[in-house]
Amino acid sequence: MSLNKLTIKEARDGLRQKKFSSLELTKACLEQIKKHNPTLNAFITVCEKEALETAKKSDELASQGDALKAMPLLGIPIAFKDLFSTKGIKTTAASKVLNNYIPTYDATVVKKLKDAGAIIIGKTNCDAWAHGSSGENSDFGPTKNPWNTEYVPGGSSSGSAASLVADMCLASTGTDTGGSIRLPASFCNVVGLKPTYGRVSRYGIIAMASSLDSIGHFTKTVEDSALLLNVIAGKDEFDATTPGVDVQNYIKNLNAGVKDIKIGIPKEYIAKGLDKTVQTRFEQALRALESLGAIIQEISLPHTEYGIAVYYIIQPSEVSSNLARYDGIRYGHGREKFGDEAKRRIMLGTYTLSAGYYDAYYKKAMQVRTLIKKDFDEAFTKVDAIVTPVSPTPPWKLGEKVSDPLKMYLSDIFTVTANLAGIPGLSVPMGFEGGLPVGMQVLGPQFSEELLFSVGHLYEQAIDWHNQKPKL
Ligand code: GLN
Repeated sequence: MSLNKLTIKEARDGLRQKKFSSLELTKACLEQIKKHNPTLNAFITVCEKEALETAKKSDELASQGDALKAMPLLGIPIAFKDLFSTKGIKTTAASKVLNNYIPTYDATVVKKLKDAGAIIIGKTNCDAWAHGSSGENSDFGPTKNPWNTEYVPGGSSSGSAASLVADMCLASTGTDTGGSIRLPASFCNVVGLKPTYGRVSRYGIIAMASSLDSIGHFTKTVEDSALLLNVIAGKDEFDATTPGVDVQNYIKNLNAGVKDIKIGIPKEYIAKGLDKTVQTRFEQALRALESLGAIIQEISLPHTEYGIAVYYIIQPSEVSSNLARYDGIRYGHGREKFGDEAKRRIMLGTYTLSAGYYDAYYKKAMQVRTLIKKDFDEAFTKVDAIVTPVSPTPPWKLGEKVSDPLKMYLSDIFTVTANLAGIPGLSVPMGFEGGLPVGMQVLGPQFSEELLFSVGHLYEQAIDWHNQKPKL
């Protein structure tokens, strides 16, 4: 098997047993990028020179005793969404406004991954400023879905999901403000983790909507996802929203199983708008969970129908404030302008925060946000976890929704509520429709990542979807 196809766990084992070097592994990823990035457009920047140098250093370190033990990701090539500040490496947020911006520091997550030995293989394409669900809002052109290049890979972390399923890296990072990790994970057939709000530091990540942004990652297996969270989770003195809640060893209880675990299916999600083919796949997934010993029961999240309206008030409000710094004086060079989607959100957010409308829109939305959170609190007194499809439809064709923002926003209907409630969600492959993948998300109470991993890991043993790869 080509080295770039390995999971993190397999690569670590191989490196430890000296079956191959990090340099060989890194070269295999770079070759795959060279071959397929011209078609897929998954990367904005490829860090060939730096990656090869770091790989050589990793191999030297590995030969000197215990480094492989102390550094859990030593020599592993990882791709970073171009929203993550990387010291000395261009970081654009996929917007020309930040064309040629080179950060002078690393985001906390980048630093933690580097300290653990990870190699930055490149910076991935995404919707500009993470605004979008399809990857088509990038100023650097859309990323294509590796399963069928006429289709969207899901967004906003489009390049991170596409590059991973195309085996250009062993894992990739993403941000999820309203679904931007779970949706592309689902549309590309990889595992995506949106951690609890505050579990992972936001410091150094270009902000979209600060009360909703969660920092997470894409991996080929649930086990790899747990492994990465072990490295990046925890309190950060640079991000006051990271609490001191203990970081578990997320690998330890992966095999805890789901026997007698109660899993809720929100009846509001199975209602109108859910594509029949997605529903069929979902029912199959539920039977798989049941056969593993889980108890499936119907629950209600009564305020679900307000999710999109609430999200598309709170999020643009915060966007309008966060984007104010790119005024050509503090950041940005002032020559390049914001794209249509960013302008739309700045205008919406400025309006909903304005003196005359604040109470009617922003304040009201914040009140309903509390009701949405209470729905989840109430549900989690009855069930341990909740599962739902990630998206009401399979991936759509490039161009299909670009001229209709409202239609695009509606694709986030199943994902935004987790961000509004601050709870974690794990997206896992759930099968295919017309050759294109769809995914299921497992949601749990705040800081229940360990439970999500054990549900996802066991489910993965019962299905084979995650082992399917696109023909490139
Ligand atoms: N699709 C949603 C939006 O455009 C979510 C984006 C995200 O999670 N970054 O707002």
